[in-house]
Amino acid sequence: MKVIDAIKEHTDTVLSFEILPLLKGAGIDSLYAGIDPLMEFNPKYVNVTYQREEYIYKKREKGYLEKVSIKKRPGTVGICAAIMNKYDVEAVPHLICDGFTKEDTENALIDLDFLGIRNVLALRGDARKAENSFVPEENGNEYASDLVSQIHDMNKGEYLEKEMKDASPINFCIGVAGYPEKHFEAMSLKADLKNLKRKIDLGAEYIVTQMFFDNQKYFEFVARCREHGIDLPIIPGLKPVTSLKQIQFIPRTFHISFPEALSDALETCKTDADVTKVGVEWGIEQSKELRDQGVPCLHYYTMGRSEAVRKIASEVF
Ligand code: FAD
Repeated sequence: MKVIDAIKEHTDTVLSFEILPLLKGAGIDSLYAGIDPLMEFNPKYVNVTYQREEYIYKKREKGYLEKVSIKKRPGTVGICAAIMNKYDVEAVPHLICDGFTKEDTENALIDLDFLGIRNVLALRGDARKAENSFVPEENGNEYASDLVSQIHDMNKGEYLEKEMKDASPINFCIGVAGYPEKHFEAMSLKADLKNLKRKIDLGAEYIVTQMFFDNQKYFEFVARCREHGIDLPIIPGLKPVTSLKQIQFIPRTFHISFPEALSDALETCKTDADVTKVGVEWGIEQSKELRDQGVPCLHYYTMGRSEAVRKIASEVF
């Protein structure tokens, strides 16, 4: 089932969550161990992130350094197929522009289609560590909107080779990312919303937000989207803070801020367990308020730790 239909079919708020592929070498059972505790909440779909390869430098003889490309968390497509097979729940692979030519993207979509996957989240990807700004692959998509456009074309049976005869249309529901606190590269929220609207006009069917900790920012974002003619479902993305490390890592990595009441509470924490307690309590309050306001779905970022999400879900669903 397509995400958009799963959301529309329900009058109540539904639950979904995002997982990361495990570090290379970990078996699929470790992945299931993170998913199993959340299945009792009847998730409508599970997102699986995509991690591009990274460059590392390995020391060779005579002090030479060799630049090596590695992918630490492979397996997005296989994991999606495994989830659909084991749990009979929709899986949503993330598809990024980064590292993909348009030809690679086309072939990836053909693989997904053959596996019976009907949903994708279309994203650009971030700049690599050594680069100041995002550099697309040669003959690749530059922005998520270009990727949306390519998927939408294939949904109409239009492949890269225009003369292709009897090309079968694929049939994907396309989700895209939105940023209640603005994407950090955009010069203003208004400019960012124009770019978000472009993704919608080119064929995206719903938006899932970057994590936020202040519901007011989500409500204001939704209002601004509506003013800009974006009238699709906007699914809030939530992440419970679960470790001392995340207190610094989350604002720095995702370009978001904690509301003062949350940062005051986090400041008193001495251990990861203290942080998790605060994070879960905050997540419960956030979720309840959003559900009471009638959001279509609550989407949780597990970041490899499902226990905190399970505690929140058991209070909310
Ligand atoms: P875009 O929509 O392309 O926007 C990027 C920037 O360019 C924005 O500032 C936008 O305003 C601007 N822009 C867009 N179009 C134009 C245009 N035509 N002209 C000028 N400016 C333009 N990353 C991964 O690598 N793997 C993942 O699995 C992953 N999952 C994610 C899931 C979610 C829900 C979110 C919110 C992010 C995820 N990311 C992932 C991170 C994402 O790749 C980054 O946030 C990235 O910097 C932007 O991606 P985007 O799809 O929003 O890009």
